[in-house]
Amino acid sequence: MAGRDYYEVLGVKRDATKDQIKGAYRKLALEFHPDRNKSPEAESRFKEISEAYAVLSDDEKRRQYDSFGREGVYQRYSQEDIFRGVDFGEFFRGMGFGGFNDIFSQFFGGVPGQRSGRGEDLTYHLQLGLEDILQEASREIEVPRDEICPTCSGSGAKPGTTPQRCSVCRGTGQVQRVQSAGFTRLVRVMACDRCGGRGQIVESPCSDCRGRGSVERKRKIRIVVPAGAEDGLTLRLRGEGNAGENGAPPGDLYVALNIAPHRLFARRDSDVYLETNVGAVDAMLGSELRVPTLYGDVKLNIPHGTQPGTVFRIKGKGLPRYGKWGQGDEFVRVGVEIPKNLSHAQKELLKKFGDSG
Ligand SMILES: [Zn+2]
Ligand SMILES: [Zn+2]
Repeated sequence: MAGRDYYEVLGVKRDATKDQIKGAYRKLALEFHPDRNKSPEAESRFKEISEAYAVLSDDEKRRQYDSFGREGVYQRYSQEDIFRGVDFGEFFRGMGFGGFNDIFSQFFGGVPGQRSGRGEDLTYHLQLGLEDILQEASREIEVPRDEICPTCSGSGAKPGTTPQRCSVCRGTGQVQRVQSAGFTRLVRVMACDRCGGRGQIVESPCSDCRGRGSVERKRKIRIVVPAGAEDGLTLRLRGEGNAGENGAPPGDLYVALNIAPHRLFARRDSDVYLETNVGAVDAMLGSELRVPTLYGDVKLNIPHGTQPGTVFRIKGKGLPRYGKWGQGDEFVRVGVEIPKNLSHAQKELLKKFGDSG
């Protein structure tokens, strides 16, 4: 996910206007458009500047990038979504270039089809409390995963040596077995025993990964926890799972959010519920109560004559609505405490009070 800063890529300031961003992209695109620039690095440069432009020219995506960086953008938008909404075709026709779709499909269709050996998907459980989801927040998690061995670049072979083509399967990874059953001959295709289906033999294995081509690393990964996330919500981070074999793509990382129950508040969607008590006299005469909310204590006015079990609503003190605008409420259910162990004098007063009605 590492990559240069988008503003740096386009050579503009962080507070650049849309026109400045467009102008910068136009200039760079003229230089690196694959129709014009045939140098090997042109395509990746062109992709880099196009991605930077696609994000910075869209208010919503730019905001996401400014707050959470590239990780935040990748987490919220798929690669297709990043480029969606930008009319590159019009852009390039204006510059005298042909269809952008060809380049575009090269970007996304150029990946050789899902080969076997794609890295495994991983799941990471992240424990959070209600306080952690009051606003969208960036968090760092440490994920143990298999990464391409840096010593042998994933080949599994000791530096200076290369894996040899397997002589048994001639590099295909498959062998045919002929089985005879009576008069029937059965031809079965099986994975090659010698090379384990890889088609290659590593004669002198890399000592850092013992020939596996991958090593386990604890990788710090930034994720964006959405405001008001539901318990069990799972975020998918493309390509952040285990490394693939022999250059196959990596798996994905799934981050499951476990929102722990709160010691005071029960949660229902974006609303929270609190149980509290007032004294009998306060309930009868009215009073002001300090009640906790997720955002600090507030004063709650208890009117005189409040009945046990009355529910008061404190607007906007619930959780942000997940994926929507607005905010839930806090509901406070007020019980009334009937005093025990009254003194003689108190009992007399209450008797008088009872007779007075
Ligand atoms: Zn290695
Ligand atoms: Zn083989």
